[in-house]
Amino acid sequence: MGSVVLENVTKAYAEGVCAVDAVSFRVESAQLMVLLGPSGCGKTTTLRMIAGLDSVDSGRILIDDREVHAVEPKDRDIAMVFQNYALYPHMSVAENMAFGLKLRGCPRREIAPRVQQAAAMLGLEALLDRRPGALSGGQRQRVALGRALVRQPRVFLLDEPLSNLDAGLRASMRMEIARLHRAVKATMIYVTHDQVEAMTLGQRIVVMDGGRVQQDDTPLRIYERPANLFVAGFLGSPSMNLLRGRLDVVAACVQVTDAGHLDLPEDSVVRRALAAHEGREVVVGLRPEALALATTEAGAMPTLEAELDLVEHVGNEAFLNMRFGAHAVVARVPPQALPESGRCVRVTYDPRRMHFFDAGSGQRID
Ligand code: ATP
Repeated sequence: MGSVVLENVTKAYAEGVCAVDAVSFRVESAQLMVLLGPSGCGKTTTLRMIAGLDSVDSGRILIDDREVHAVEPKDRDIAMVFQNYALYPHMSVAENMAFGLKLRGCPRREIAPRVQQAAAMLGLEALLDRRPGALSGGQRQRVALGRALVRQPRVFLLDEPLSNLDAGLRASMRMEIARLHRAVKATMIYVTHDQVEAMTLGQRIVVMDGGRVQQDDTPLRIYERPANLFVAGFLGSPSMNLLRGRLDVVAACVQVTDAGHLDLPEDSVVRRALAAHEGREVVVGLRPEALALATTEAGAMPTLEAELDLVEHVGNEAFLNMRFGAHAVVARVPPQALPESGRCVRVTYDPRRMHFFDAGSGQRID
Protein backbone atom coordinates (compact mmCIF):
# COMPACT_ATOMS: atom_id res chain seq x y z
CA MET A 1 0.00 0.00 0.00
CA GLY A 2 1.26 3.46 -0.87
CA SER A 3 2.88 3.43 -4.31
CA VAL A 4 3.05 6.87 -5.92
CA VAL A 5 3.32 7.39 -9.67
CA LEU A 6 3.79 10.65 -11.58
CA GLU A 7 3.30 10.61 -15.35
CA ASN A 8 4.42 13.71 -17.28
CA VAL A 9 3.27 16.01 -14.52
CA THR A 10 3.58 19.66 -15.53
CA LYS A 11 2.86 22.87 -13.66
CA ALA A 12 3.38 26.46 -14.82
CA TYR A 13 2.54 29.36 -12.54
CA ALA A 14 0.51 32.25 -13.90
CA GLU A 15 3.62 34.33 -14.66
CA GLY A 16 4.69 31.65 -17.13
CA VAL A 17 7.33 29.99 -14.91
CA CYS A 18 7.34 26.27 -15.74
CA ALA A 19 8.06 25.07 -12.21
CA VAL A 20 7.61 21.37 -13.02
CA ASP A 21 8.14 20.16 -16.58
CA ALA A 22 6.87 16.71 -17.62
CA VAL A 23 8.10 14.98 -14.45
CA SER A 24 7.65 11.19 -14.28
CA PHE A 25 8.72 8.75 -11.58
CA ARG A 26 7.43 5.82 -9.58
CA VAL A 27 7.87 5.35 -5.84
CA GLU A 28 7.25 1.79 -4.71
CA SER A 29 5.22 1.05 -1.65
CA ALA A 30 7.32 1.40 1.57
CA GLN A 31 10.22 2.96 -0.33
CA LEU A 32 12.05 6.08 0.87
CA MET A 33 12.61 8.19 -2.22
CA VAL A 34 14.54 11.47 -2.10
CA LEU A 35 13.79 14.36 -4.44
CA LEU A 36 17.09 16.23 -4.64
CA GLY A 37 17.91 19.48 -6.40
CA PRO A 38 18.98 23.11 -5.97
CA SER A 39 16.67 25.85 -4.75
CA GLY A 40 13.90 26.61 -7.23
CA CYS A 41 14.16 23.35 -9.20
CA GLY A 42 10.53 22.42 -8.52
CA LYS A 43 10.81 19.97 -5.60
CA THR A 44 8.25 21.63 -3.33
CA THR A 45 5.80 22.17 -6.18
CA THR A 46 6.05 18.46 -7.04
CA LEU A 47 5.36 17.52 -3.43
CA ARG A 48 2.44 19.94 -3.14
CA MET A 49 0.83 18.46 -6.24
CA ILE A 50 1.11 14.95 -4.79
CA ALA A 51 -0.49 16.22 -1.57
CA GLY A 52 -3.22 17.99 -3.55
CA LEU A 53 -2.25 21.45 -2.26
CA ASP A 54 -1.41 22.61 -5.83
CA SER A 55 -3.30 21.72 -9.00
CA VAL A 56 -1.70 19.85 -11.90
CA ASP A 57 -1.73 21.52 -15.36
CA SER A 58 -1.23 18.29 -17.26
CA GLY A 59 -0.13 14.71 -16.63
CA ARG A 60 -1.35 12.20 -14.04
CA ILE A 61 -0.68 11.38 -10.38
CA LEU A 62 -1.64 7.92 -9.13
CA ILE A 63 -1.56 6.62 -5.58
CA ASP A 64 -1.92 2.85 -5.37
CA ASP A 65 -2.72 2.90 -9.10
CA ARG A 66 -5.70 5.19 -8.56
CA GLU A 67 -5.73 8.60 -10.22
CA VAL A 68 -6.04 11.25 -7.51
CA HIS A 69 -6.90 14.44 -9.44
CA ALA A 70 -10.42 14.60 -8.21
CA VAL A 71 -9.53 13.46 -4.67
CA GLU A 72 -9.48 16.15 -1.98
CA PRO A 73 -6.16 16.58 -0.11
CA LYS A 74 -7.71 15.33 3.14
CA ASP A 75 -8.89 12.15 1.42
CA ARG A 76 -5.50 11.24 -0.11
CA ASP A 77 -4.26 9.51 3.05
CA ILE A 78 -1.05 11.52 2.96
CA ALA A 79 0.75 13.35 5.78
CA MET A 80 3.10 16.22 5.02
CA VAL A 81 5.92 17.46 7.25
CA PHE A 82 7.08 21.00 6.55
CA GLN A 83 10.42 22.74 6.97
CA ASN A 84 8.93 25.32 9.37
CA TYR A 85 7.15 22.63 11.49
CA ALA A 86 3.75 24.45 11.23
CA LEU A 87 2.80 23.63 14.83
CA TYR A 88 -0.13 25.34 16.61
CA PRO A 89 1.53 27.59 19.24
CA HIS A 90 -1.46 27.62 21.63
CA MET A 91 -1.73 23.83 21.83
CA SER A 92 0.40 21.42 23.85
CA VAL A 93 2.59 18.83 22.15
CA ALA A 94 -0.04 16.15 22.80
CA GLU A 95 -2.83 18.36 21.41
CA ASN A 96 -0.76 19.21 18.34
CA MET A 97 -0.22 15.53 17.68
CA ALA A 98 -3.86 14.64 18.30
CA PHE A 99 -5.34 17.50 16.27
CA GLY A 100 -5.32 15.81 12.85
CA LEU A 101 -6.95 12.70 14.27
CA LYS A 102 -9.68 14.74 15.98
CA LEU A 103 -10.42 16.59 12.74
CA ARG A 104 -10.88 13.27 10.99
CA GLY A 105 -13.35 12.12 13.63
CA CYS A 106 -11.08 9.48 15.11
CA PRO A 107 -12.68 8.09 18.34
CA ARG A 108 -11.20 9.60 21.53
CA ARG A 109 -10.21 6.21 22.98
CA GLU A 110 -8.02 5.57 19.91
CA ILE A 111 -6.35 8.98 19.91
CA ALA A 112 -4.55 8.79 23.27
CA PRO A 113 -2.78 5.46 22.63
CA ARG A 114 -1.73 6.55 19.14
CA VAL A 115 -0.26 9.79 20.49
CA GLN A 116 1.49 7.81 23.25
CA GLN A 117 2.93 5.34 20.76
CA ALA A 118 4.26 8.07 18.43
CA ALA A 119 5.65 10.00 21.42
CA ALA A 120 7.49 6.87 22.58
CA MET A 121 8.96 6.30 19.10
CA LEU A 122 10.26 9.86 18.99
CA GLY A 123 11.30 10.24 22.63
CA LEU A 124 8.67 12.90 23.29
CA GLU A 125 6.92 11.38 26.32
CA ALA A 126 8.33 13.90 28.80
CA LEU A 127 7.32 16.86 26.63
CA LEU A 128 3.67 16.07 25.90
CA ASP A 129 2.31 18.91 28.09
CA ARG A 130 4.64 21.61 26.80
CA ARG A 131 3.75 24.24 24.23
CA PRO A 132 5.88 24.49 21.03
CA GLY A 133 7.33 27.81 22.26
CA ALA A 134 9.05 25.95 25.09
CA LEU A 135 10.79 23.43 22.81
CA SER A 136 14.10 23.43 20.97
CA GLY A 137 14.21 23.30 17.16
CA GLY A 138 14.98 19.59 17.15
CA GLN A 139 12.13 18.86 19.57
CA ARG A 140 9.70 20.88 17.45
CA GLN A 141 10.72 18.95 14.37
CA ARG A 142 10.12 15.72 16.30
CA VAL A 143 6.61 16.92 17.19
CA ALA A 144 5.96 17.73 13.52
CA LEU A 145 7.06 14.17 12.64
CA GLY A 146 4.93 12.79 15.48
CA ARG A 147 1.88 14.63 14.19
CA ALA A 148 2.34 12.94 10.81
CA LEU A 149 3.09 9.59 12.41
CA VAL A 150 -0.12 9.36 14.51
CA ARG A 151 -2.16 9.59 11.35
CA GLN A 152 -0.64 6.33 10.06
CA PRO A 153 -0.90 7.54 6.47
CA ARG A 154 -0.06 5.53 3.38
CA VAL A 155 2.41 8.18 2.22
CA PHE A 156 4.63 10.65 4.08
CA LEU A 157 5.78 13.77 2.26
CA LEU A 158 8.69 15.51 3.97
CA ASP A 159 9.72 18.95 2.69
CA GLU A 160 13.26 19.80 3.86
CA PRO A 161 12.32 18.76 7.41
CA LEU A 162 15.82 19.25 8.83
CA SER A 163 16.94 22.46 7.16
CA ASN A 164 16.27 24.65 10.22
CA LEU A 165 18.44 22.51 12.50
CA ASP A 166 22.15 22.87 13.19
CA ALA A 167 24.60 20.39 11.62
CA GLY A 168 24.89 18.05 14.62
CA LEU A 169 21.17 17.82 15.18
CA ARG A 170 20.59 17.31 11.46
CA ALA A 171 22.84 14.26 11.48
CA SER A 172 21.06 12.68 14.45
CA MET A 173 17.55 13.49 13.13
CA ARG A 174 18.59 11.98 9.80
CA MET A 175 19.26 8.69 11.53
CA GLU A 176 15.99 9.02 13.41
CA ILE A 177 14.05 9.42 10.17
CA ALA A 178 15.81 6.37 8.67
CA ARG A 179 14.91 4.39 11.79
CA LEU A 180 11.30 5.60 11.67
CA HIS A 181 11.03 4.61 8.04
CA ARG A 182 12.19 1.09 8.88
CA ALA A 183 9.77 0.91 11.81
CA VAL A 184 6.59 2.15 10.10
CA LYS A 185 7.31 0.69 6.64
CA ALA A 186 5.45 3.54 4.93
CA THR A 187 6.17 5.20 1.62
CA MET A 188 8.18 8.37 2.11
CA ILE A 189 9.06 11.10 -0.36
CA TYR A 190 11.74 13.31 1.13
CA VAL A 191 12.63 16.66 -0.44
CA THR A 192 16.06 18.16 0.15
CA HIS A 193 18.80 20.20 -1.50
CA ASP A 194 21.38 18.53 0.78
CA GLN A 195 23.33 15.81 -1.01
CA VAL A 196 24.49 14.16 2.22
CA GLU A 197 20.90 13.77 3.39
CA ALA A 198 19.95 12.39 -0.01
CA MET A 199 22.83 9.91 -0.19
CA THR A 200 22.41 8.63 3.37
CA LEU A 201 18.61 8.43 3.51
CA GLY A 202 17.43 7.64 0.00
CA GLN A 203 16.85 4.13 -1.25
CA ARG A 204 16.39 5.98 -4.52
CA ILE A 205 17.15 9.54 -5.54
CA VAL A 206 15.38 11.57 -8.19
CA VAL A 207 17.63 14.52 -9.09
CA MET A 208 15.79 17.57 -10.43
CA ASP A 209 16.96 20.76 -12.07
CA GLY A 210 15.00 23.40 -13.95
CA GLY A 211 11.72 21.58 -13.29
CA ARG A 212 12.95 18.39 -14.98
CA VAL A 213 14.14 15.01 -13.78
CA GLN A 214 17.87 14.76 -14.46
CA GLN A 215 18.41 11.25 -13.12
CA ASP A 216 16.38 8.63 -11.24
CA ASP A 217 18.53 5.91 -9.69
CA THR A 218 20.11 4.47 -6.52
CA PRO A 219 22.44 6.80 -4.58
CA LEU A 220 25.48 4.73 -5.57
CA ARG A 221 24.66 4.73 -9.28
CA ILE A 222 24.00 8.45 -9.21
CA TYR A 223 27.44 9.00 -7.69
CA GLU A 224 29.26 6.48 -9.87
CA ARG A 225 27.47 7.01 -13.18
CA PRO A 226 25.99 10.52 -13.27
CA ALA A 227 23.73 10.83 -16.32
CA ASN A 228 24.80 14.35 -17.25
CA LEU A 229 27.02 17.26 -16.30
CA PHE A 230 24.47 18.74 -13.92
CA VAL A 231 24.28 15.57 -11.80
CA ALA A 232 28.06 15.10 -12.02
CA GLY A 233 28.68 18.57 -10.62
CA PHE A 234 25.86 18.58 -8.06
CA LEU A 235 26.79 15.43 -6.12
CA GLY A 236 30.12 15.07 -4.37
CA SER A 237 32.12 17.38 -2.12
CA PRO A 238 34.52 18.70 -3.28
CA SER A 239 32.71 18.39 -6.58
CA MET A 240 33.91 16.42 -9.57
CA ASN A 241 36.74 17.98 -11.61
CA LEU A 242 35.33 18.76 -15.05
CA LEU A 243 37.85 19.36 -17.83
CA ARG A 244 36.83 20.35 -21.32
CA GLY A 245 38.85 19.14 -24.28
CA ARG A 246 38.93 17.45 -27.68
CA LEU A 247 38.53 13.70 -27.95
CA ASP A 248 41.22 11.88 -29.92
CA VAL A 249 40.38 8.17 -29.73
CA VAL A 250 43.00 7.32 -32.36
CA ALA A 251 45.75 8.76 -30.12
CA ALA A 252 43.90 7.37 -27.04
CA CYS A 253 43.68 10.72 -25.26
CA VAL A 254 41.70 13.88 -24.62
CA GLN A 255 43.56 17.06 -25.44
CA VAL A 256 42.40 19.28 -22.56
CA THR A 257 41.85 22.90 -23.61
CA ASP A 258 44.80 25.08 -22.50
CA ALA A 259 46.43 22.20 -20.61
CA GLY A 260 48.08 18.86 -21.31
CA HIS A 261 46.46 15.64 -22.46
CA LEU A 262 44.75 12.89 -20.46
CA ASP A 263 45.03 9.21 -21.40
CA LEU A 264 41.81 7.35 -22.17
CA PRO A 265 40.84 4.20 -20.26
CA GLU A 266 41.73 0.93 -21.98
CA ASP A 267 38.29 -0.63 -21.54
CA SER A 268 37.10 -1.64 -25.02
CA VAL A 269 33.42 -0.92 -24.27
CA VAL A 270 34.27 2.64 -23.21
CA ARG A 271 36.57 3.10 -26.23
CA ARG A 272 33.78 1.99 -28.57
CA ALA A 273 31.31 4.42 -26.98
CA LEU A 274 33.85 7.24 -27.26
CA ALA A 275 34.70 6.41 -30.89
CA ALA A 276 31.26 7.71 -31.90
CA HIS A 277 32.37 11.14 -30.62
CA GLU A 278 35.82 11.18 -32.24
CA GLY A 279 37.18 14.70 -32.77
CA ARG A 280 34.41 16.36 -30.77
CA GLU A 281 34.49 18.56 -27.71
CA VAL A 282 33.90 16.56 -24.55
CA VAL A 283 34.06 17.15 -20.82
CA VAL A 284 36.12 14.67 -18.81
CA GLY A 285 35.04 14.17 -15.19
CA LEU A 286 37.43 12.98 -12.49
CA ARG A 287 36.36 12.90 -8.85
CA PRO A 288 38.93 14.30 -6.37
CA GLU A 289 39.51 10.77 -5.02
CA ALA A 290 40.55 9.55 -8.50
CA LEU A 291 43.64 11.80 -8.24
CA ALA A 292 46.67 11.20 -6.01
CA LEU A 293 50.18 12.52 -5.57
CA ALA A 294 52.62 10.49 -7.67
CA THR A 295 55.20 8.63 -5.64
CA THR A 296 58.80 8.01 -6.76
CA GLU A 297 58.15 4.32 -7.48
CA ALA A 298 57.06 3.92 -11.07
CA GLY A 299 53.32 3.29 -10.94
CA ALA A 300 50.89 1.95 -13.48
CA MET A 301 48.78 5.13 -13.45
CA PRO A 302 49.35 7.95 -15.93
CA THR A 303 50.30 11.32 -14.48
CA LEU A 304 49.74 15.01 -15.14
CA GLU A 305 51.73 18.00 -13.96
CA ALA A 306 49.96 20.68 -11.93
CA GLU A 307 50.77 23.67 -9.80
CA LEU A 308 49.72 23.36 -6.17
CA ASP A 309 47.77 26.49 -5.13
CA LEU A 310 46.52 25.59 -1.69
CA VAL A 311 46.44 22.63 0.71
CA GLU A 312 43.27 22.38 2.81
CA HIS A 313 43.53 20.11 5.86
CA VAL A 314 40.23 18.69 7.09
CA GLY A 315 41.51 16.24 9.71
CA ASN A 316 41.59 12.72 8.31
CA GLU A 317 42.19 13.92 4.75
CA ALA A 318 43.39 16.93 2.78
CA PHE A 319 42.29 18.65 -0.40
CA LEU A 320 44.96 19.74 -2.85
CA ASN A 321 43.74 22.71 -4.87
CA MET A 322 45.80 22.79 -8.04
CA ARG A 323 46.01 24.33 -11.48
CA PHE A 324 46.28 22.00 -14.46
CA GLY A 325 46.97 24.46 -17.29
CA ALA A 326 44.01 26.84 -17.23
CA HIS A 327 41.86 24.52 -15.08
CA ALA A 328 41.31 24.38 -11.33
CA VAL A 329 41.62 20.76 -10.14
CA VAL A 330 41.12 19.29 -6.66
CA ALA A 331 42.55 16.03 -5.29
CA ARG A 332 41.40 14.29 -2.08
CA VAL A 333 44.45 12.74 -0.42
CA PRO A 334 45.66 11.38 2.94
CA PRO A 335 46.90 14.25 5.15
CA GLN A 336 50.50 13.04 5.50
CA ALA A 337 53.68 14.12 3.68
CA LEU A 338 52.14 16.86 1.60
CA PRO A 339 54.18 19.25 -0.58
CA GLU A 340 54.15 22.99 0.02
CA SER A 341 51.82 25.35 -1.82
CA GLY A 342 53.24 27.06 -4.88
CA ARG A 343 55.18 24.00 -6.04
CA CYS A 344 54.76 21.95 -9.19
CA VAL A 345 53.48 18.49 -8.38
CA ARG A 346 53.04 15.29 -10.34
CA VAL A 347 49.60 13.80 -9.90
CA THR A 348 48.35 10.37 -10.93
CA TYR A 349 44.84 9.89 -12.27
CA ASP A 350 42.90 6.72 -12.77
CA PRO A 351 41.50 6.51 -16.34
CA ARG A 352 39.10 3.76 -15.23
CA ARG A 353 37.41 6.33 -13.02
CA MET A 354 36.94 8.91 -15.78
CA HIS A 355 33.49 10.09 -16.80
CA PHE A 356 32.82 11.45 -20.29
CA PHE A 357 30.14 13.94 -21.26
CA ASP A 358 29.22 15.59 -24.55
CA ALA A 359 30.32 19.23 -24.19
CA GLY A 360 27.26 20.48 -26.09
CA SER A 361 24.36 18.49 -24.64
CA GLY A 362 26.02 17.70 -21.29
CA GLN A 363 24.84 14.07 -21.57
CA ARG A 364 27.03 11.15 -20.48
CA ILE A 365 28.60 9.37 -23.47
CA ASP A 366 30.62 6.48 -22.03
P1 ATP B 1 13.38 25.53 -2.59
O1 ATP B 1 14.37 24.46 -2.30
O2 ATP B 1 13.99 26.91 -2.64
O3 ATP B 1 12.14 25.46 -1.76
P2 ATP B 1 12.09 24.14 -4.80
O4 ATP B 1 12.99 23.26 -5.57
O5 ATP B 1 11.22 23.51 -3.80
O6 ATP B 1 12.93 25.31 -4.14
P3 ATP B 1 9.68 25.28 -5.91
O7 ATP B 1 9.30 25.96 -4.65
O8 ATP B 1 8.91 24.09 -6.33
O9 ATP B 1 11.24 24.91 -5.89
O10 ATP B 1 9.66 26.38 -7.07
C1 ATP B 1 9.90 26.06 -8.44
C2 ATP B 1 9.78 27.32 -9.29
O11 ATP B 1 8.46 27.82 -9.28
C3 ATP B 1 10.66 28.48 -8.81
O12 ATP B 1 11.15 29.15 -9.94
C4 ATP B 1 9.69 29.34 -8.02
O13 ATP B 1 10.11 30.70 -8.07
C5 ATP B 1 8.40 29.13 -8.79
N1 ATP B 1 7.22 29.25 -7.91
C6 ATP B 1 6.97 28.50 -6.80
N2 ATP B 1 5.78 28.85 -6.25
C7 ATP B 1 5.28 29.85 -7.03
C8 ATP B 1 4.07 30.63 -7.00
N3 ATP B 1 3.14 30.44 -6.07
N4 ATP B 1 3.89 31.58 -7.97
C9 ATP B 1 4.82 31.74 -8.94
N5 ATP B 1 5.97 31.04 -9.03
C10 ATP B 1 6.19 30.10 -8.10
